[in-house]
Amino acid sequence: MPTVPGAWRRTASGAGLLGDDGSIAPTIFAEMSHLAAETESINLGQGFPDEDGPAEVLEAAQRAIADGHNQYTPGRGVPELLEAISEHQNRFYGLSVDPATEVLATTGATEALSATLLALIDSPEDEVVVFEPYYDSYAACVALAGGRLRTVPLRRPDFQPDLDELAAAVTDCTRVILLNDPHNPTGAVFTAEIRQQIADLAERHDAVIVTDEVYEHLVFDQPHVPIATLPQAAARTLTISSAGKTFRATGWKIGWVSGPAELITAVLTVKQFLTFVNGSPFQPAIAAGLRLPDAFFAELREDMRRKKDLLGAGLRAAGFDIFQPAGTYFTVADGASLGFSDAAALCRELPQRAGVVGVPLTAFVTDENRADYASLVRFAACKRVDVLEEAAARLGRLGAS
Ligand code: PMP
Ligand code: GLN
Repeated sequence: MPTVPGAWRRTASGAGLLGDDGSIAPTIFAEMSHLAAETESINLGQGFPDEDGPAEVLEAAQRAIADGHNQYTPGRGVPELLEAISEHQNRFYGLSVDPATEVLATTGATEALSATLLALIDSPEDEVVVFEPYYDSYAACVALAGGRLRTVPLRRPDFQPDLDELAAAVTDCTRVILLNDPHNPTGAVFTAEIRQQIADLAERHDAVIVTDEVYEHLVFDQPHVPIATLPQAAARTLTISSAGKTFRATGWKIGWVSGPAELITAVLTVKQFLTFVNGSPFQPAIAAGLRLPDAFFAELREDMRRKKDLLGAGLRAAGFDIFQPAGTYFTVADGASLGFSDAAALCRELPQRAGVVGVPLTAFVTDENRADYASLVRFAACKRVDVLEEAAARLGRLGAS
């Protein structure tokens, strides 16, 4: 076998995915979905819905294919989608975004994130501040881009960062402060005070704020507030979102990033060499989705509220302590309350013990900080009610096994 050279090794070790023998492991989501399929367990691990999104959106994609929208799109995306994103930012948040220069369609939020980090990190001294636990691609992309990851822990029980720890992490080496609000995997929503602190620190140290808001329409008891709405932050913020969660279309991989024109140009410069363009027939369909009436977005949120309540009740009845999520698909449960101090081991055993799959939070943290999250498991509520009820019944047998 030849040696395989390249930056991929950095990516792998950055994400904690490189095995002791040098082999690369699949992402935690792929691993857990494989485990669920292999053991015929209920998959509350990887966060994807098991029901389709709105018929208007599905039909619009079918129409677009039939009407011949099957070739490359313009470089920034289909104008109809760029306009719909601009309208959406204005309608929900009062943000003004020029569809011609301040929006870019991407291959999911994943590419928006990777293109952004590749664009903004320029030297091995450049630091990206992330909140830990963090979505798996963040560490991988920072490593691929050759930058340095600085983590700020999110502390139980509400998974907010400590203001002093945050202030200490941001320095003149910080190129990017990368937040995810609402937050995967904890379900936390940042307080106004934290958002303000991030904006202040970014300004003081001339850093770019990159905010991953893919769960923007899944905040339960308060309006979602994009950090870009802070006047001080607007000029230095790239806001990322995606159709996956809002329109139950994770496989379509339509995402976008919006922000100041110069920053969008930087991201476009990289994106055009990653995928060039993507998803011709899906882009107009997501434009139709973004233009759906308010009732659609309200019902999406209420549906998820019911489901997370159902999941939370099932987990509590099974003996888990849980952390009430303020948003997202996810609820974090503490295995320690059932005597399981090692969530990674519990997640490997859960299919046999209960026929259910979850994800250990240790998959989202750096090695140094594993101990703080060692007993925590993330369960996804984005499943049919009957599936969640069956999962709850199965988990109820856990204490007895
Ligand atoms: N960011 C977060 C926080 C996520 O949970 C996900 C996964 N859905 C993504 C980014 C990736 O989104 P997409 O599937 O649109 O690439
Ligand atoms: N975002 C999904 C989750 O957190 C999974 C996405 C993926 O598999 N890459 O579960």
